[in-house]
Amino acid sequence: LTRLYTPLTMLANAHMDIMSAIVSFERVFEVLDIKPLIAERATARALPEGPVAVEFDHVNFSYPSAEKVSLASLEDVAVLDSRGGEEVLHDVSFRAAPGHTVALVGSSGAGKSTIAQLVARLYDVDSGEVSIGGQDVRDTTFESLRHTVGMVMQDGHLFHDTIRANLSVAREGVTDADLWDALDRSRLRHVIASLPDGLDTVVGERGYRLSGGERQRLTIARLLLARPRVVILDEATSALDSTNEAHVQAALDEAMSGRTAVVIAHRLSTIRQADQILVIEAGRIVERGSHTELLARGGRYAELHDTQFAANGRDHDAAR
Ligand code: ADP
Ligand code: MG
Repeated sequence: LTRLYTPLTMLANAHMDIMSAIVSFERVFEVLDIKPLIAERATARALPEGPVAVEFDHVNFSYPSAEKVSLASLEDVAVLDSRGGEEVLHDVSFRAAPGHTVALVGSSGAGKSTIAQLVARLYDVDSGEVSIGGQDVRDTTFESLRHTVGMVMQDGHLFHDTIRANLSVAREGVTDADLWDALDRSRLRHVIASLPDGLDTVVGERGYRLSGGERQRLTIARLLLARPRVVILDEATSALDSTNEAHVQAALDEAMSGRTAVVIAHRLSTIRQADQILVIEAGRIVERGSHTELLARGGRYAELHDTQFAANGRDHDAAR
């Protein structure tokens, strides 16, 4: 089962790469010699211009099942469309208004990362709809999606290419000055500057091995360069030490300002600032509201707040 699960995990990660790297879909799948699970419709069009809302409308979702994959060759995985797995999201509906932040909280395995990934259409929903700017993501071109949605995940995936190439995919016409500025803000300037080949250092699988925190900061630098209209942060600073985290968080706050954001945070202060907090439990939204409203309710959020965020909150928020 583990072995058969691998191609799908690779596929998901590859796909995630594309969205976070804001790189062409074709490239990653070319490298891995597999095709995406999702396809661009012939009628797909670009998302509307300007600030956009992100909306989930009665979304049900299950990951493609390992059982199904075991029956398929790798080639079949590429066209696998059946959703035989257990449902992990049940009737999820919410709206992040243009320029607003929705924070997702809940225990591990609740479905937060899954929701984050569906915004960028890393998978297709079983039923219901995910839309950006009122347009179903399934009716949207891959190009428009990757220019609109920027993601930073817990584990930053990089291409086996130079740091310059990994960053330059964010936006056309970036100069070295832009790159250094982004590296500065993501607290990577000194790390990269100290490498013999600097920006031309090859990173990734077979290249120079950056630490988890460095990889995460590189994907953050990419987001800072890209300035996407929709920002998805999935525990984006989880691999950083607290000194770096404080600085990088300031840069991320700036990148999110005026943008529509879906944020999964492990820091209480980020969640507290959100326009709306959704409490996710076993694939369902069980509570929603502002920090103050949810605390006053004394329900699941209040409980999470006391347990999950108490220690964290003291660390990070004492000075605020
Ligand atoms: P969270 O981010 O809240 O910890 P996830 O969204 O990662 O939760 O996971 C929700 C559920 O989906 C879990 O039961 C998890 O095991 C399952 N899951 C996550 N990723 C995959 C995958 N690629 N394939 C199959 N199941 C998955
Ligand atoms: Mg997660």
